[in-house]
Amino acid sequence: MPLNELKSLLIDGDPGTPESRIVRVMSERGTLSAAQIATATGLARSTVSTALAGLRRSGVVIEAAGGDTGKGVGRPATALALNPEAGTCVGIHLGLDGFRLVVADVSHSVIFEKTEELGRDYTPARAATAVKRAIDAAYAENSLRRSGLIGVGISVSGPVSPDGVVQRASIVPLWAGTDIRQTFGPVLQRPIFADNESNCAAIAEMMWGAATGCEDFVLFKIDVGVGGAIVHRGQVMTGVAGSAGEFGHMTIDPDGELCRCGNRGCLELYASFVRPLALAERLHGRRMTMDEVIALALEGDVGSRRLIEDTGAIAGRGLGMIGAIINPPLIVIGGRMALAGDLILEPLIAAYDKHTLIKRRDVDEAKRTRITIGRFTQNDALLGAVGLVLRHHGRLG
Ligand SMILES: [Zn+2]
Repeated sequence: MPLNELKSLLIDGDPGTPESRIVRVMSERGTLSAAQIATATGLARSTVSTALAGLRRSGVVIEAAGGDTGKGVGRPATALALNPEAGTCVGIHLGLDGFRLVVADVSHSVIFEKTEELGRDYTPARAATAVKRAIDAAYAENSLRRSGLIGVGISVSGPVSPDGVVQRASIVPLWAGTDIRQTFGPVLQRPIFADNESNCAAIAEMMWGAATGCEDFVLFKIDVGVGGAIVHRGQVMTGVAGSAGEFGHMTIDPDGELCRCGNRGCLELYASFVRPLALAERLHGRRMTMDEVIALALEGDVGSRRLIEDTGAIAGRGLGMIGAIINPPLIVIGGRMALAGDLILEPLIAAYDKHTLIKRRDVDEAKRTRITIGRFTQNDALLGAVGLVLRHHGRLG
């Protein structure tokens, strides 16, 4: 029975056995060859081969359909994946006025996706009940075994401490102080994993997006707020209280306006899309969305372009500081502002180069920080919530 064995190898059992190490690497990375598994786990080829034979016999690992991982000459390597029937996981993104849910299997295929509105200022208890109901309905509708659910990953719009408490400065103020484990644990009764939305977004970009294969990078998110994440050696840094990568709350102007976090002149006040949106609305004399402003800019509207260019320049200045501190090989721009593509990227890169320590001209290509648009600007946090479970990050119990 592959289900129980997979659960034990992935969630509950001794993580040090070769079988457990192989299953965890496959859960993190999806389809792999035996040679890639050996490299990723650091196990000898012969150990991997013996363990894989057992895992294939028990049905935990299968040959991936239609694929080989071979490049170059010779016989292509067999592509292996976890058996999608062996387990499923749920990702939840708690947003401003509701949540999104995705169900995926352990071979990284999305099975189901849904958005549920709860209205502004919904309480944590209400969210927990609604999430439970939505998971039950999703499993029933898709004829999935409820017992196959190996874990629920939760993305929160605010800093989350490593023990699962939502910190102040959450986009949803009502959630500050909420203990995710206490709120969701008794209702869901599954292993629960949680982290903030930007950290989840970074996990999605690392697993399937613009940072695939890159173990060191920074994610910089420009949306209603400005957020970010720092990934070092494949691990998202959370910080001692959960606020690592909160780039939006670096002080740019100590005498500036008051921020929702209680400090003055935070980067978020100047580099999120709140200010350009307000300016666009004033100019056009009507309510607008940021998507509309971006669409106008892409059509060539001079005023809208200027608003996005200015945002890019300020964001690049903030990123320049991050460059001086971390000097990452890669910066991925996420959030809805990233939909502006080169319109935001070009002024951002120019400002980054102007304000950071190591300039492009100082070093050759290999040592330059590459700045690129993320692959997932709309559903990164949601996919990353699934990634929390698959990568075993932010486990709360
Ligand atoms: Zn702030």
